[in-house]
Amino acid sequence: MSELTSLTLKSALEGLQSRAFSSVELTAAHVAAVEAARSLNAFVLETPEKALQMAAASDARIASGDAGALEGAPLGIKDLFCTRDVRATACSKILGNFIPQYESTVTANLFGDGAVMLGKLNMDEFAMGSSNETSAFGPVVNPWKIAGGNQSLTPGGSSGGSAAAVAADLCLGATATDTGGSIRQPAAFTGTVGIKPTYGRCSRWGIVAFASSLDQAGPIAKTVEDAAILLTSMAGHDEKDSTSLNVETPDFASFVGKSVRGLRIGVPKEYRVDGMPPEIDALWEQGIAWLKEAGCEIVEVSLPHTKYALPAYYIVAPAEASSNLARYDGMRYGLRAEGGNLTEIYENTRAQGFGAEVQRRILIGAYVLSAGYYDAYYLKALKVRRRIAEDFDRAWETCDALLTPTAPSAAFALGERNADPIAMYLNDVFTVTTNLAGLPSISVPAGLDAQGLPLGLQLIGRALDEGTVFSLAGAVEKAAAFRSKPAKWW
Ligand code: GLN
Repeated sequence: MSELTSLTLKSALEGLQSRAFSSVELTAAHVAAVEAARSLNAFVLETPEKALQMAAASDARIASGDAGALEGAPLGIKDLFCTRDVRATACSKILGNFIPQYESTVTANLFGDGAVMLGKLNMDEFAMGSSNETSAFGPVVNPWKIAGGNQSLTPGGSSGGSAAAVAADLCLGATATDTGGSIRQPAAFTGTVGIKPTYGRCSRWGIVAFASSLDQAGPIAKTVEDAAILLTSMAGHDEKDSTSLNVETPDFASFVGKSVRGLRIGVPKEYRVDGMPPEIDALWEQGIAWLKEAGCEIVEVSLPHTKYALPAYYIVAPAEASSNLARYDGMRYGLRAEGGNLTEIYENTRAQGFGAEVQRRILIGAYVLSAGYYDAYYLKALKVRRRIAEDFDRAWETCDALLTPTAPSAAFALGERNADPIAMYLNDVFTVTTNLAGLPSISVPAGLDAQGLPLGLQLIGRALDEGTVFSLAGAVEKAAAFRSKPAKWW
């Protein structure tokens, strides 16, 4: 059944509609692939019975002509999404065996369109990390390896399980979330496509909160078109999230394959950072050439506050996290540790329940929000955030979208950077800017480095202009003709 797992979402949906195979067959093939890939540690919970039940229901709807847009397609769900009656942990010990009584809006939208859930995907604890190494379930292993090598590499983070599962053909697509790069950087590290839409496109309701003003859901997929199909289902206004935008959701797939002739593409000079491998620079140049050939006009732009984005992000995100994570007190759900009095119970629960990185973020967040430091750190970071958004506004006067690398390196080895938080945070240097400004941005696989590892290019668009982003991503995908897959070793 391996041919069924190597299908794109688009071709699988066509096969289901033409009855070339059933959803039960398609789902069973993916269930088998998930079971055979446990060494990747991509799934933290497999739900095969549920998947096959959902698939049978999909087959019945296909037979009766009631198929939804994703009818019968098996997907993986990041464990940050609350799934009704199915454990959701955010890959933290503090949530213990939490079984939500409700469904997140994004997963409800997907399932409402007929998608099938294969299980819950591994991630960094509370989505804090860039390598999936902060997960309470242990790291995900990237299906890709250095050519001729056998070292275990990170799939990136925090959506490492989502990216690895898609890259290894364990699911046709996956949900993910992006607060500072967690969709795009893992997509770049695994040769997959990942889009973070405009802030407010997807409802955050039922997604475990990390930093509420930055968090957005989006898909990781095998192709740009698949990502567009998934995002069309995931997005939409939701009264249960006050920051959800009350706007129409276009058919994003209709933008893929559209001509990009005449579009002006900005190349921000500040995204050329020290120590970036020359291959990434070369790939960026290649991307510029591809878009030129496709009829785009290339303009150099300046985003002068870029260098402050990472420090601002690592103040704003922990500040919001420290507030959001205050709810985990051992009283209402999840882990509760013993203690002689209430304060001790709180302290012991939080000390045992949160991992080291999450504790670091809570401490930083509490510090930058504290009375004496609020103005010096948090308020200043908010001002920087505004300057960054204004940089983009100015760029849109001369261009329609921006092209940058997604990450400053290819996938690195597990264990290589987790001793040094700053080295880890530097992964997010090209991605946090669009979270701070709320803009849509996609990572498209564009080539391999000298070691045979995938590299991604990022396209950034105006707020709510995912359409242009998808058209350009489609053009890059076509020109790059990236068809490499990791050699199956798992
Ligand atoms: N790597 C970033 C962080 O650790 C971004 C994470 C994310 O986007 N969820 O905060």
